[in-house]
Amino acid sequence: MISETMRKTLVEAVAKTIIEHTQELTELDQAIGDGDHGLNMKRGFSAVLEGLEAELKKSLPELLRYVGMTLVMKVGGASGPLYGTLFMTMGDELPADADLASLTHALTVAIEAVQKRGKSEPGQKTLLDVLVPVRDELGVGGGSVAERVQRRARSAAEATIAMRAYRGRASFLGDRSMGHMDPGARSCSLMVGRICELFGA
Ligand code: ADP
Ligand code: MG
Repeated sequence: MISETMRKTLVEAVAKTIIEHTQELTELDQAIGDGDHGLNMKRGFSAVLEGLEAELKKSLPELLRYVGMTLVMKVGGASGPLYGTLFMTMGDELPADADLASLTHALTVAIEAVQKRGKSEPGQKTLLDVLVPVRDELGVGGGSVAERVQRRARSAAEATIAMRAYRGRASFLGDRSMGHMDPGARSCSLMVGRICELFGA
C-alpha cells in the first residue's frame, strides 16, 4: 500500500515537473502545433495541486481518478481529454496495493482507452509513442526497472522527432511535422521520468 506521504510526493513531483517545463512544451508546440501545450498542461496540473490536500486521504486509484477528472476539466485542447482518459482509466484499473504486473495491466487498458478516444495508434507521433514503449519496458525483466523505463521514455520521445504526424494539429503540416519532437510525447516522458526517479532511477 502506497503511504499518504508517497501519494503526495508522487502527484506533486509530476505536477511540478510539468509546470517547470512549461516553456519547453510551449516551444515544441509552437513548432508543429498552436503553441498552447505548455500552458494547457500547466493550467491542468496547477489545478491538481490546488485541490490535492483534500484528496490525500483517498487511495492511489481514487487519487488517479481525481487527477484525470481535473485534467479533463482544466487542460482543454486535444491533450486534456487524452491525459484525462489515461489517468482516470489507470485509477479504474489499478488496485490499491499495485505491483509491477497490475501496473502493466492498468497501463495497457489505459492505452487502449486513449487510442479509442484519440482514434489513434502508435507510430502517428503522439503521446502514445511514449506510453506504449514504456508499457512494453515494464514487462522486460532484469536490472533496475525504474532506470530502464526512464531511459526508454526519453529515447521514445526523441524517436518522435523523425516521425510524421498523422493525428492532431501537427498532422496538418504533413512532412513538415518531421524534425521536431512531439509536445505530448515530451510531456509524457517528463512525467514518466520523474516517477522513475522517485522509484530509484
Ligand atoms: P491541441 O493539439 O488541441 O492544441 P495540445 O497542444 O495540448 O492540444 O496537445 C497536443 C498533443 O496532443 C500532441 O503533441 C499529441 O501528442 C497529442 N494528440 C493530439 N491529438 C491526438 C490524438 N488524436 N491521439 C493521441 N494523441 C494526440
Ligand atoms: Mg496545441
